[in-house]
Amino acid sequence: MWFGIDIGGTYTDVVEFENFRHVMHLKTEKVMENPEILKKFDKCVVGIASWVRDNKILKAPNIPNIKNVNKLLESFKLENDANCFAVYVKHLVKEDNIIAITLGTGVGAGLILDGKLYKGRGLAGEIGHVFIGDDEKCVCNNFGHLECHFSGWRIKRDFGREAKREELLNYKGFKTLCIEISRAIMLLDVDVVAIGGRLGKIFKREDFSKIYKYLPSEFRPKIVIIDDELAVAKGASILAREMYD
Ligand SMILES: [Zn+2]
Repeated sequence: MWFGIDIGGTYTDVVEFENFRHVMHLKTEKVMENPEILKKFDKCVVGIASWVRDNKILKAPNIPNIKNVNKLLESFKLENDANCFAVYVKHLVKEDNIIAITLGTGVGAGLILDGKLYKGRGLAGEIGHVFIGDDEKCVCNNFGHLECHFSGWRIKRDFGREAKREELLNYKGFKTLCIEISRAIMLLDVDVVAIGGRLGKIFKREDFSKIYKYLPSEFRPKIVIIDDELAVAKGASILAREMYD
């Protein structure tokens, strides 16, 4: 049996390959108190909202208390959450070139290129931390990044609550996000741009057609919204199946 685990900012979910049965749902703070709780899932991949290189967590600004347990977590096979999301999107859309963007507390992207998950040296696709401008401090301790213009944490700070879709369409950072996605499309010429995550799923597909405005007409990747809270865990379970086969 293979398992995919999604350690998110608030909740941790576990699904079993291959019917994607949801086998565990608990608060991430409980996992941070006792990561041993995950040991029973022996053949598993852990998707986590963090910068992962060589199975080491370099940064995880949106996971509380991770410093206390990251050595323990590194005894698991770790994968960036957006990379797991991209693997699940490939499973759904059956295309070979995909940018899969997670919009949640932060902004991440996973890349499928020529049919394979592309990680570079581990951190490929960290579009939330490209420099846009201004001197707003980012959660990664640098300045002026995309997340400072559009992200769950920035929106929450501006609105003091969760924002509605209509509000976000007029929010100035949304245009910045669309421009950055168009730049990624120009760089990679993908078939599909998938949008997911807690914040991403409140949008409709046509909201992102704005991206086409910034692209030459030869670039028209399909845009899909993935409304599935278990998408990261499902992608992680697919990776576990590949890794432990
Ligand atoms: Zn940053």
